Formats: sequence, C-alpha cells, structure tokens
Amino acid sequence: MHIKRSFRTIILTLTLCLITTFGLSQSKEIKIEFLGNCGLYLTDGKTNIYTDFPYKSGAHGYMEFDQSELENIKENSIFIFTHKHSDHYSDKNIKKVINEKGGKKYGSWNIEKLKNLEKIIPDFSIQVFKTKHKWSSKHYSYLITWHNKKIYLSGDTESAKTIGTIKNIDWAFVPYWIFLDAKENEIKIDTKMFGLYHLATVQIPSAKKNYDDIENIKPMVVQGEKITIKL
Ligand SMILES: [Zn+2]
Repeated sequence: MHIKRSFRTIILTLTLCLITTFGLSQSKEIKIEFLGNCGLYLTDGKTNIYTDFPYKSGAHGYMEFDQSELENIKENSIFIFTHKHSDHYSDKNIKKVINEKGGKKYGSWNIEKLKNLEKIIPDFSIQVFKTKHKWSSKHYSYLITWHNKKIYLSGDTESAKTIGTIKNIDWAFVPYWIFLDAKENEIKIDTKMFGLYHLATVQIPSAKKNYDDIENIKPMVVQGEKITIKL
C-alpha cells in the first residue's frame, strides 16, 4: 500500500516536472517573423509586437502582402511605427485591425507613451532615438531590450550615426544603405547579427548575391520567414 502510493507520487511529480520544463522551454525564445518592408512580428509567446506593420501593401513599389496577413494579426497586440510613410504605416489598415482585434499603436504622435510599455510587458524596455529621414520630420529608431536581448529597429533613417553608438546589439534590423553610410563614415556597428530589411523586389537578387554568404547578415527576402532568438 505504502509502496504503491509512493510510486504514484513519483509518477505525478515526474509528470509535473515534464509539464513545467516543457512550458518553460516553449517560452525560452523570441520569434521574429518577416512580414515585408520593415514589417516584423515579434513574440516571446506571451506578448505580440508588430513593427512598421500594417503598411500599405505595395506602396512606393515595395513589397505587397496578402489580405490574410491582416487577419493573422494577433489580438491585443502592440504596434510600433518608425514613421508614417505608406510603405511603413497605413492608417486605414491599422484602424481596421485595432477596431477588430484591439491593441495599441505607438509612433511619433504618442512617442512619450512608449515608455509605459515597460510597465506592461515583462522583462522589456525600449529606447527611443529621434533619427533623420528625408521627407519626414518625425522619424524614430528603437532599441528594444527584451529578456536581455537587444533588438535594434533602424527604420528608414539614412544615417548609421545612432546605431554606431549602441553596444552589444543581438539583432540589428537595417536597410542596406546603413551599410553604405557606416562604411563611408567609418562607423562600426556592434551587433551579432544583421537583418537586412526593406529590400525592394528588384533588389533581392543582388542582395542575395552580395550578402547571402556573409555569416552575420541575413537578407530578409522571403515574407513569412522566421528568426529565432534563443534566450
Ligand atoms: Zn520613409
């Protein structure tokens, strides 16, 4: 009788251990999905963040996306925008999404409120940088620190000056012209990995040719492809 009960206790304990381990291991990563242009979907399994998405599909000759991508957006998500050019932001699309699914959007219009996210999202902080971009007086780049991983979102800014001041970035998402500016001005970018985003369809073949073999540069060419950051 006594032995039988102990055995059951052991089985129960083991099961609980497995469930706990499985549960933890599932949340031990940040997943980033490329949606097009500078559009990314980031999740740690609990919080859902979209950056520069939804934009206007096909705007300025950049990437199109299927209507189903709007339907796939998670409920009560956080939307962060670098600026309001239509290849980064669509008023119509974001209104529709927030009306249907809730969530909150952040950008130049409420930039001071972004800090509030640090109280809502566990193990998360965000640094805001006012950065220069032609034809937009209100452009921001962001450094997200989430579960101790640093993710930099450059957006459309032409200058590598700001990113050059940041130490120990894990993933820096930049357009190719940031490489050119960094080279020209001898700016060193301290990141483990580059996600090369905002490629126009016509630039994809040359981007693949130039960057595919470089170990720490990932050209973002296929919409829907995912990056996993192990925590
Ligand atoms: Zn722009």
